[in-house]
Amino acid sequence: MSDMRMSDMSDMRGMGANGFTPLATLAPLTPSARAPRAPHDPHAPSRPAAPSRPAAPSTNAPRIIGAYGGYRKTLPFGYVCLVYHATTLFCRRNYDYRNDALGKTVGQMVGAARSARQNIVEGSSRAGTSKETELRLYDVAKGSLEELAGDYEAFLIDSGVSPWPDDDPCRLSLVSLVLDSYEGGYSRHDFGEYILAMRRRFAPFLESEDPIVAANAILVVIDRACGLLHRQMQSIGESFKEEGGFTERLSRARLAARDAKDAAQGAPTCPDCGGPMHKMIARKGRNAGKPFWSCCDYPHCQGTRPWRGDRG
Ligand SMILES: [Zn+2]
Repeated sequence: MSDMRMSDMSDMRGMGANGFTPLATLAPLTPSARAPRAPHDPHAPSRPAAPSRPAAPSTNAPRIIGAYGGYRKTLPFGYVCLVYHATTLFCRRNYDYRNDALGKTVGQMVGAARSARQNIVEGSSRAGTSKETELRLYDVAKGSLEELAGDYEAFLIDSGVSPWPDDDPCRLSLVSLVLDSYEGGYSRHDFGEYILAMRRRFAPFLESEDPIVAANAILVVIDRACGLLHRQMQSIGESFKEEGGFTERLSRARLAARDAKDAAQGAPTCPDCGGPMHKMIARKGRNAGKPFWSCCDYPHCQGTRPWRGDRG
């Protein structure tokens, strides 16, 4: 926990809007595990969370920096935390100087689990300004999980067994377990208590003293985290298609600011189409450098009006 980039944490308002799926709206892995839940709606209002920062002044101006930093309320992050803690324990118990003299296997496994966790934290913190970076970092997190899965598979094969089949009774009882949603706010203490409680819930599998059970169980949870991360990335891609990213928001904010300024200057209506007009500066011709009113619908409408001093 110590190297978690808490400085990047933001408030969790507007979580649905940044593509993160709130815990409570995601269905469990298996249909049989729990009653079906409401489908994910990226535009649904977020649940009220304890604010971690003072609320921004309320204005009608378009938002430039999008929502970011809500990772602690997402299922993928919760599962990745479980994978990380289970992996450090697994390595401590099952690798020593006899089978990993240089500590390379342990270094790679713990490193991959850590990378998955930290890239979600960093991706989430970058969500406000670059959806592309956010997606790329989640993709790195997913790649790290898949790499880690390869190590557990190799461990099982080295031990002379293959991973659980889909109908393994132990596997079936594990997939019926799901994470609770984290309902707390920005408190490190509250999140720590939540993760510890979830670790205890999954401990009979993930922290089993039987390394075959533990390795298989961690594989199941890795698969679940990868699937959820994939869905989260798809949802971010969809909202990007609809709302655009940082550049689009900046452009919308600039246009809105200009419209507001024009309205304050008593902008007239277009003589041709009756629509709004804004102040422009002529670029060429004998009036070059002088202001005039231009139809906001230019170039579709060519309506102009002369500028008459500061009052238009
Ligand atoms: Zn016009």
